[in-house]
Amino acid sequence: MNFTYFENPELYTGLQEHIATCHFCKEEKACFDAESFYGEDKINAICPGCLAAGRLLEIDSFTCNGDIDGLRRQLKEIHPDMSSAEIEQLTLQKTSLLERTTPPLITWQDWEWPCADGDYCRFIGYGSQPLYERLATTGSGEELFKDSFYHGLEDDVDADDLWESVLPENEVHDFQDSSEMDTLFYVFKSLTTDTIVTIMDIS
Ligand SMILES: [Zn+2]
Repeated sequence: MNFTYFENPELYTGLQEHIATCHFCKEEKACFDAESFYGEDKINAICPGCLAAGRLLEIDSFTCNGDIDGLRRQLKEIHPDMSSAEIEQLTLQKTSLLERTTPPLITWQDWEWPCADGDYCRFIGYGSQPLYERLATTGSGEELFKDSFYHGLEDDVDADDLWESVLPENEVHDFQDSSEMDTLFYVFKSLTTDTIVTIMDIS
């Protein structure tokens, strides 16, 4: 199973527990639960093959919201020679690919899918101390964690406290693990560099 913006969806989306009839190919198999998808057209389920093939483009349904303003800004910086129309086309192209072909991430709050280096990031797992230690290429896992927040840490949040008391000490392996927590850290990676982006979500 290979998705540009989502690593190992079989681990992180509860796919295995959801046997249903795919809205598009009508086959009964492990499907993504589509009831929480956005858009005017409501469907119940879509299988990984149909999602990857872009079948959602046929109807008004999408799995997430990309940070389109952030992406447009980044693309302008990276391609100062491109016209506004070209930037817009690239922005819409990448956003459509993200929102129409990416497995659904189950979240409590509605937040926008982060971008880095002129493209949307790839979701790689739920944050934990061991995960950040493993991802840290320069410096410590703790430093990486604190530097990775997408919109910076809110003023009233104590980063030291988050690392020590809130961030899990053990790996959060899968969807099952994550569903037992009331605070989750979603970890994303740039498609082209080692940049890590974290989004905190509270139930
Ligand atoms: Zn299907």
